[in-house]
Amino acid sequence: MRYLFPPPPVVSVAVAGSDARFPVRRIFCVGRNYAAHAREMGGDPEREPPFFFTKPRDAVVEDGGEVPYPPLTRELHHEAELVVAIGRGGFAIAEEAALAHVFGYAAGIDLTRRDLQQALRGKGRPWDWAKGFDHSAPVGAIRSAAEIGHPERGRITLAVDGEIRQDQDIADMIWRVPEIIAHLSRAVRIAPGDLLFTGTPAGVGPLAIGDRVEVRIAGIGSCAVRIGAPEGTIAPA
Ligand code: MN
Repeated sequence: MRYLFPPPPVVSVAVAGSDARFPVRRIFCVGRNYAAHAREMGGDPEREPPFFFTKPRDAVVEDGGEVPYPPLTRELHHEAELVVAIGRGGFAIAEEAALAHVFGYAAGIDLTRRDLQQALRGKGRPWDWAKGFDHSAPVGAIRSAAEIGHPERGRITLAVDGEIRQDQDIADMIWRVPEIIAHLSRAVRIAPGDLLFTGTPAGVGPLAIGDRVEVRIAGIGSCAVRIGAPEGTIAPA
């Protein structure tokens, strides 16, 4: 096989306690999966079917990395999230069988251009530009389910420069991991390498250049990134 130019590099995430890395295929995210966050976003926390959006795989930033302050926003928001790493693919997976498709779990941050999201939402346009920008998917090292099982509870916190801004428990998720996998896999075939961001608790808020932001999930792990200067010279919108 001959390519016109070098193919894109494989994006991967560290696996705790292993020198083998988790190669990323797709990144799926669940919207509004904690009632308190649905309310703070002006939504109805009713148990409607979960809805999904995506981020490009090369949006991944690893623990300890830097996120250049993105263009097109003055309101970059943090969203602390449990991330599920898929190890086995499938289509229309039954809820009872779903956990067998999980390789492991990580702590992640669904970075969001909130002002842009509100503007797009108001016009009925897709969320893509609010969610799927460069460096928008920090993910910490994955802990394998073989090691830690399938945690159903655990404190999830997000701190900015050491000050806690989000503090809840993953047990508060409206849709649990097996239900999310069942719903998602009825819409698309999932495959090894997929990452699922499972939604954020209440307390989302703005980040500034120089901030160190860290998400921790008890029993699973953590992920810290620093917000750096913007790339290039484009002024914010
Ligand atoms: Mn989110």
